[in-house]
Amino acid sequence: MSKFIKVTIDDSKCLGTADCGGCIKVCPVNVFQHPPQGTSSAPDKEVPAVVEENQDECTLCDLCLQECNPRAILIKKLYEP
Ligand code: SF4
Ligand code: SF4
Repeated sequence: MSKFIKVTIDDSKCLGTADCGGCIKVCPVNVFQHPPQGTSSAPDKEVPAVVEENQDECTLCDLCLQECNPRAILIKKLYEP
């Protein structure tokens, strides 16, 4: 469980790794990765998995947000009200 940052992907908005996968490419601390085969959170596309233990390494660089055209990524700071 992350303490400081919670990253989530709206799988209904995500384009999937075959058509996009931008977040996996740009994140400098590997918050996103290809999910193990058969574990995508959507049945019709491969939605990136959020690596639980890497979330707190997030530098808030916003690269993933800039990359994500459908605005599927939400980054929440858990230390702010
Ligand atoms: S950048 Fe956005 S649309 Fe592209 S794979 Fe990541 S979450 Fe999905
Ligand atoms: S804001 Fe930067 S460090 Fe944080 S998840 Fe997105 S790309 Fe990774």
